[in-house]
Amino acid sequence: MEGQLNLFVKWNNAEYVLEGLLETDNVEALKNVIFKKTGVRPERQKLLNVKFNGKMPTDDCLISNLNVKEGFKIMMMGSLETAIADANTIPDDLPSVINDFDIEEGEEVPIENKDVYLAKIHKRVSDYEVKILNPARPGMKLLVLDIDYTLFDHKSVAESGYELMRPFLHEFLTSAYRNYDIVIWSATSMKWIEEKMKLLGVSSHPDYKITFYLDYLAMISVHTPKYGVIQVKPLGVIWGKFPHYSPDNTIMFDDIRRNFLMNPQNGLRIRAFRQAHTHRQTDRELIKLAKYLEAIAGLDSLAHLEHRHWERYLSNRRKEKKKRRGDGGETSSSQGNSP
Ligand SMILES: [Mg+2]
Repeated sequence: MEGQLNLFVKWNNAEYVLEGLLETDNVEALKNVIFKKTGVRPERQKLLNVKFNGKMPTDDCLISNLNVKEGFKIMMMGSLETAIADANTIPDDLPSVINDFDIEEGEEVPIENKDVYLAKIHKRVSDYEVKILNPARPGMKLLVLDIDYTLFDHKSVAESGYELMRPFLHEFLTSAYRNYDIVIWSATSMKWIEEKMKLLGVSSHPDYKITFYLDYLAMISVHTPKYGVIQVKPLGVIWGKFPHYSPDNTIMFDDIRRNFLMNPQNGLRIRAFRQAHTHRQTDRELIKLAKYLEAIAGLDSLAHLEHRHWERYLSNRRKEKKKRRGDGGETSSSQGNSP
């Protein structure tokens, strides 16, 4: 057809063909075609080499007035944070829909055919390849962290990924790193985990190091009579691959309790961090949880703890300390801190 243009857009190390555009279309139409191809919303697209009179064109500018000819390659910047906020984090290669429901506090969910799941875990242990980013440190406990809504609000829109980061993330990780090796496990693809961690400054932080990342391929599906088939994060995959980690020294944070269905004793359900703009002023969850991690780090085993009462554990501890200080006379012999 006359006036038809075949253009390309280069974005995120990939090249996309933009078919069906006419010279008489405007920039808005162009951006809509790019959106369909890349998932980056029009208002977030920066078309670097597209110019009208040497400047960025407005949306009503016609393609025929631009410096764009047949076969032209448009360079687009969709900064990482834009990509993450816009593409909504669930990659195309995810095998199944992730449901948003969760199991109730303290709810016992019977798992049938346990042997089948143990077999699946064994398969992950032998087949799933873990890329070690930083070596495990002898004597350290293990902290396994979810990303979405645990460390990062992945649905809200923001100018920068930084705005979506849960407050005190780096302080939390720095503090935890003193006693724990840190592993990130997210129900998404490795590419997205790596990009998010880069974006948040976690992968390059000078004060702590992440031991490794796990993605959705390390998860298994489990059938429960009540909820049907669900995806879970069995810690047995880590324990099988790295036997120095065990139920005694591992704790996992996730905003969805069913993710630790296979090992409820080691899971702590963190309050979800959503609507970052509203909650970033008041959310102190990570500061408090850093204190909890520190408080339990010296225990020989974490296996007997009831993580769902972590706040009570901290407040009881405070009370005990206060009491010791207040009743200095009675405890002076043991504490040696009499006035
Ligand atoms: Mg989550």
